[in-house]
Amino acid sequence: MAERQSAFCEHCRKMVEVELAEATETTELDGVAYSYPVVHGVCLECGEPATPAAVQDENQRAFTKAVRKANGIVDQDTVEDVPKKYSIGKRPLSRMLGWGEHTYSRFLDGDVPSRDYSKTIERIARSPLAYLLKLYNNINEMSDVAFRKSKDAALRVLHDSGEAIERAAAYLIARTGSGSPLALQKELYYADGLCISYSGAPLFPDRCEAWRYGPVFPRLWEDLELKGVDESLLFGDEVANYLADTFSNRELEVLDAVTRYVACFSPYVLRDCTHDESPWIDARAGIPDDAPSNNEMTLEGIGSFFRDLWERYDMEQPADIRRYMQARIA
Ligand SMILES: [Zn+2]
Repeated sequence: MAERQSAFCEHCRKMVEVELAEATETTELDGVAYSYPVVHGVCLECGEPATPAAVQDENQRAFTKAVRKANGIVDQDTVEDVPKKYSIGKRPLSRMLGWGEHTYSRFLDGDVPSRDYSKTIERIARSPLAYLLKLYNNINEMSDVAFRKSKDAALRVLHDSGEAIERAAAYLIARTGSGSPLALQKELYYADGLCISYSGAPLFPDRCEAWRYGPVFPRLWEDLELKGVDESLLFGDEVANYLADTFSNRELEVLDAVTRYVACFSPYVLRDCTHDESPWIDARAGIPDDAPSNNEMTLEGIGSFFRDLWERYDMEQPADIRRYMQARIA
């Protein structure tokens, strides 16, 4: 049965009961037509249109939403959600993003952000790890109290609902103290592969691509701004310890083995290693080493390589990966 509400009917000149119905409306703005869902009311006494004021407001919001979405502009709900989710004031948030002190307040008040600003807001809304990296690297932009409050909130989001690849990346950054995006991608790759051979399942299900610089998880690559981070301001053991209980014991063994025996090599050494391994070679299928590629490195390919490695190097535990690494570097 259709929903009923009361509304003022212009025709009957009084408050009446109206029946609500969903529809799609199309409105033109600057020569572009935008379609969006609306709800209309019809007076049950005279049959003329009569829509409650609150429903009209919703319709207006749906229009704004459609315009922003079509133009690559972040949703207003997301703009409002970020400072709440990460327990941070709008001014410190604005400063830590490298913006003017009042910029974020203006967006909260309804000013429409540019695409660049939108991308940043969407990225930190989606990725608690991207937010934490920004926060730690801008610790000097806010008071100690504000930093701690926001850090605790963002860590909780990462711990409770963060994607496995983000938790693993945060753990590795914290344990290695390194902010090299190239190194991190390789460490994640070895961690994912070792997990398959040690516990039968990958550490995370993300798509891995055979880039020029070796295996890369593109979604994480795009979300994290590791280039130019001040490594002295990266997170340390506190963060790793906090996240530890989100991993199984076997996963932790893998992450700790990668920290000790893989992360100790430079990103370029790791890149060269992966260039000699079948998952990367097979995915590239003959593309020259220095040519770009987005070809997928399949889980099957990664799994069979790491299972084979496990046998060839007589591995009993993830830490035995050091035998392979030493053989490769020798
Ligand atoms: Zn009426």
